Amino acid sequence: MATQFFPVTPQGLGSSDIEALDSYMLRLAAEHGVTEYQFSIVLAHWWNQTKSDYRFHLGRHVTYIAKIGHGRDIDTLIQALERGTGYSGFAGMTLSAFRDVSGVHVGTFVRGIHYWCPACMKEQVQRGLPVYEKLIWRLKAITRCSIHRIALECCCPSCGSHQSRHVDVWPECSACHASLVGDELDWTQVLTPSESEPDILEIVSYCAINPETVFRKDAARAFWELIRADKSATIRLKYDFFRRRHEPSRTLIDVLLRFAHEVQVPLLSILLDPYQAAAIRPLLGNLPSSEMNFQPKRRLTLKVREGLRQSLLLGIQSGEKYISLTELCRIHGCTSVVPKYWFPDLTEAFLARNRERRAVVVGAQARALERIHIDEGLDVRVTEVGWHEAIREVSREFNLPIHLVRDRLSVLRQMPIEKQSGCSKNYSENH
Ligand SMILES: [Zn+2]
Ligand SMILES: [Zn+2]
Repeated sequence: MATQFFPVTPQGLGSSDIEALDSYMLRLAAEHGVTEYQFSIVLAHWWNQTKSDYRFHLGRHVTYIAKIGHGRDIDTLIQALERGTGYSGFAGMTLSAFRDVSGVHVGTFVRGIHYWCPACMKEQVQRGLPVYEKLIWRLKAITRCSIHRIALECCCPSCGSHQSRHVDVWPECSACHASLVGDELDWTQVLTPSESEPDILEIVSYCAINPETVFRKDAARAFWELIRADKSATIRLKYDFFRRRHEPSRTLIDVLLRFAHEVQVPLLSILLDPYQAAAIRPLLGNLPSSEMNFQPKRRLTLKVREGLRQSLLLGIQSGEKYISLTELCRIHGCTSVVPKYWFPDLTEAFLARNRERRAVVVGAQARALERIHIDEGLDVRVTEVGWHEAIREVSREFNLPIHLVRDRLSVLRQMPIEKQSGCSKNYSENH
């Protein structure tokens, strides 16, 4: 199919090595033998002539904006480039998936100057591929190349200048035209990834494969509400990530990354499905805090899930003794969202069985309480060992919780002896 512009192939499509849209547009301009500014004039002219009424106008100012962000201008630019070159999936070359989450502003997350991995650059040259800028190199949270495990560079090894990327001269320096690859001996090895590197790589490659992705605005907040509502978990975060406002405010991507790190759950899982993310997350309260800081992201294992299922079944089938769902989850090291998510029917049966057992226990307790009376023997015990110890003795004798005995005796002490048996029935019915 004939296209308006030369169909220059976008690099790294469908992977975390995907090209940044800025880089692509620069190469596209170079392929047409014009500058980036000239190309954007031609592109805007063509688009505004051919666009239908429901499409937005493309301004030539797109040259001056970072094209990896999101917003209406970027959307229009993507539509124009896709139509003009015949390729698709360009949204994956930007942060478009965050358009609802973080507003137009991505400035704190995106670099003002250009970085590159000299080893990747060298490989691109050696393999005869176009030398391009990866989207992840534009993100401040990425400080090394995860493939070559070396630090990204931002200065020309020969003259030390930062790189202007309005001209397509890579792998050469835009100032002195020496190679930006430099000497291998000068590359800095970095073995440990930055805190957010795994999250970013996962998100960028997911969006590269699914360029139509738009993350839900309230996903992270919904996830936080879910795990916080879970009484079996004791979660304390260092920062207040979602300040309570009447209208949910937009959250910066940096803040989301920090949050995901704190709760030890992959950010992509949180953004895609907060409910599932809450359910696959093990119980933080069970981990010693030292372990929490150094463990990689944790997901609930199949073994834990299967153990939980067995326990639920046992709980449903077994006899008198029962434990609460919260207690059961604590034993398995998961939150109580987990059984409700993975085994909704079993969990419902388990809870129903517990309610039945609870009713039996409460009935037995009520009958036992009726048998308690204040007599001379008790008066003697109170004088001898004191009120509190006397209550404890009665509670042991009748196999009742202390607080029930205390309440019962307080009521009995308020009334004349002869009325006690008649009123005790009312008491137990009320409780
Ligand atoms: Zn590299
Ligand atoms: Zn230079």
